[in-house]
Amino acid sequence: MSLKVYNTLTRRKEEFIPFEAGKVRMYVCGPTVYNFIHIGNGRCYVAFDIIYRYLKHKGYEVTYVRNLTDVDDKIINRAAEEGVAANEVANKYTAAFHEDMGALGNLTPDIEPKATEHIAEMVDTIAALIEKGFAYEVGGDVFFEVDKFPAYGKLSGCSLDDMRAGERVCVDERKCNPLDFALWKSAKEGEPSWDSPWGKGRPGWHIECSAMSSKYLGASFDIHGGGQDLIFPHHENEIAQTEALSQGRPFAKYWLHNGFVNMGEEKMAKSLGNVVLVRDILKEHDVNAVRLFFAQTHYRSPITYTSDNVKMAAAALEKICNTLENIDHLLALDEPKNTQSSDEFLKIVSPFEAKFTEAMDDDFNTAAALGHLFEFIREVNTLIGGGEVGVEALKGIKGAIEGSLAIFGINLGLNQEAALPGEILELARGVTGSDHLDKELALKSILKARDEARRAKDWARADEIRDRLTALGFTLKDTPSGLLAMYKGE
Ligand code: AMP
Ligand code: ZN
Repeated sequence: MSLKVYNTLTRRKEEFIPFEAGKVRMYVCGPTVYNFIHIGNGRCYVAFDIIYRYLKHKGYEVTYVRNLTDVDDKIINRAAEEGVAANEVANKYTAAFHEDMGALGNLTPDIEPKATEHIAEMVDTIAALIEKGFAYEVGGDVFFEVDKFPAYGKLSGCSLDDMRAGERVCVDERKCNPLDFALWKSAKEGEPSWDSPWGKGRPGWHIECSAMSSKYLGASFDIHGGGQDLIFPHHENEIAQTEALSQGRPFAKYWLHNGFVNMGEEKMAKSLGNVVLVRDILKEHDVNAVRLFFAQTHYRSPITYTSDNVKMAAAALEKICNTLENIDHLLALDEPKNTQSSDEFLKIVSPFEAKFTEAMDDDFNTAAALGHLFEFIREVNTLIGGGEVGVEALKGIKGAIEGSLAIFGINLGLNQEAALPGEILELARGVTGSDHLDKELALKSILKARDEARRAKDWARADEIRDRLTALGFTLKDTPSGLLAMYKGE
């Protein structure tokens, strides 16, 4: 089955056919760096990180561009409040944003252009818009004239007439139409500014994204993304600016928008004061649980945040961890088992992989894909609890689970080592006589020693090893495939 994506522009799911076969060019609006990001913003960047990972997994060569808006009214206001320079605010929160992206486990985009490093491109774009009659200058400010672009409103689905009817007061008498928006803002005292043909000033927000996306991806590219609140006016304006100059060539082919993270009935937003910061949620919850919490809902649907909802995601993740640990411990026995069970393996792994792909191909339906993963985990538990499973089959199952988790950016390997008790090293030394530095290897060698004792019918030694593991907090279970050792901690 081929990939289908919901396109905000056409309001329907469409087959995904990139401009250039095998290659995807994707632009996602990045943050305005004036404060720490909240989990609503975090959801947006995780959603597009999963989309990026999945496109790469499907074999596309993806160029992912996510900009940094480092000059804007909000940054200037913040700098004035704090009595520091605007670029100090922008630098501080750019660094914080990168820390948060790393802590959230997002891949770094291929290109992260900063607005302040692309002023020349913006000035050129604005000059071209004036020259072609789509923009006008008044007293050092430049505005885009929406009436000159008949398709204005096509993304948000509102006609210019509808929008005009909604306007009650004209806030700026200098504009031809109240909906005309700023491309260039003349400098005010103490604000950052750059030279331009219209005097000193700075770019408007919308022109930043048009100039930077065109520079790195061309005037036509495949995917443009952001949160639903960016549809109007930001993305509508980006389309107007870029398509006015490209003579009918479409700007982005597919427009993808993520739903909001809500607090109760309201959108999480800095202006409403109801935010949970990414850096705070990661103090309370494991990053994998947070990513699972996001992925449990389709990216276009709203999510209600509560700490309990994230805890529920953590509990679900624990089930996957247990299954993977059990598989690891069976593999640690290191003994080739008969491969009779490869039929069993094929019976469950292939259908799981097919269903998972079908869900992800359906507009990146992570919620449905996770449903299939949990169903698969139940089947695997039944399989390994009830009979001998061959080493190759175990490895295949493990690969299928880890491969699907990797698409969500969930890596469970990281914390397993840390979770095991330190005393395991001492026990391994006592049991095997050799020193270990690695707790996982130590556990494997203990389980192997116990298996060997049983095969040699040295029941006393086998039981002693078992008792000592139990004393360290392991729950042990003999299965036809070998001893399962699950560590729950104290
Ligand atoms: P901003 O820095 O405000 O432009 O936000 C950065 C990104 O986060 C944009 O794509 C927004 O649409 C998105 N966003 C903001 N608030 C939320 C929210 N509560 N839920 C989901 N996405 C959001
Ligand atoms: Zn943008």
